[in-house]
Amino acid sequence: MLKAKILLVEDTKAQAKMTIEFLEKNGYEVVWAQDGASAMKAAKTQNVDVILLDLVLPDINGNEVCRWLKLSQDTKAIPIIMLTVKGTTDDKVKGLEAGADDYLPKPYSEVELNARIYSCLRTKALQDELRQKNRQLEDMLMRVETLAVMDPLTNLFNRRRFEAILEKEFGRTMRYESPLSCLMIDIDHFKKINDTFGHRAGDSVLREMGKIILDSIRDVDTAARWGGEEFIVLIPETPKEKALKPANRIMESVVNAQFPELRGTRITVSIGIAGAPDPAIDSDDKLIHAADLALYEAKHKGRNRVETA
Ligand code: GH3
Ligand code: MG
Ligand code: MG
Ligand code: MG
Repeated sequence: MLKAKILLVEDTKAQAKMTIEFLEKNGYEVVWAQDGASAMKAAKTQNVDVILLDLVLPDINGNEVCRWLKLSQDTKAIPIIMLTVKGTTDDKVKGLEAGADDYLPKPYSEVELNARIYSCLRTKALQDELRQKNRQLEDMLMRVETLAVMDPLTNLFNRRRFEAILEKEFGRTMRYESPLSCLMIDIDHFKKINDTFGHRAGDSVLREMGKIILDSIRDVDTAARWGGEEFIVLIPETPKEKALKPANRIMESVVNAQFPELRGTRITVSIGIAGAPDPAIDSDDKLIHAADLALYEAKHKGRNRVETA
């Protein structure tokens, strides 16, 4: 086990010398500070495990030093044992109110000092372990949350997340009549890509497609993988006539993109656009359905094109 490091804050040299000797004899590493200011600096920089803090110091009162250490993010977890000649209840209460973890009146018995240090170290070790476990849990929770809303292949939102955003945006559109457009995008003859170049190459095209779509829209727009080789984009504050512009941008970027795995073969997409408010579209499902029908129309008319509902 590593040697525990103790910060001794004591201005009386003779007292300090005795305590240091005792602590070192008991296997501790000691850092010595003679006043409050150097104690605060040492606590911040020296990575100590326990602080023995004298109450009466030449510059700052020990209780103030204690309060400061307990407020500061980097030092608040270090246990503090207050040492003082004044053993009155009032002093003890003040020290504990300042955040001290324990209290030891001077002159102290070495056995008692040792026992208190040991108990502080044990508590700190348990708290450190708890903090670490908490961090691990938070990490795990974040990963689970990410998994729940993202499509792992393309790193776009998944369908579930998209539907939640759509519900909210559609509600806004119904309430305020703010225009909302939806693009349904489907890769043309994707089955042939898989059949010719393999499923892995197909996956890599899907990943690339996600990037192309993201690059073609604004931050306020939402892109998601709808499923298979279909993508969907939600464009708020934009009527369907104006959504033609981003749709054409996506279509052209795809036509111009080089996919190394496809050895020169080009890819195209077909896109269907639907918009609200529209008297025929009174639910978010109907908005999607209308975009789907427009997409079907684009496929029917020969692919590599955009159709508006
Ligand atoms: P169309 O122009 O009419 O859209 O023809 P298509 O071949 O693209 O349409 P179809 O729906 O027949 O085929 C879609 C293909 O997409 C079939 C399926 O194997 C493939 N696919 C779906 N999900 C994935 C995936 O995650 N990775 C890969 N590599 N292929 C996928
Ligand atoms: Mg003193
Ligand atoms: Mg499809
Ligand atoms: Mg397709």
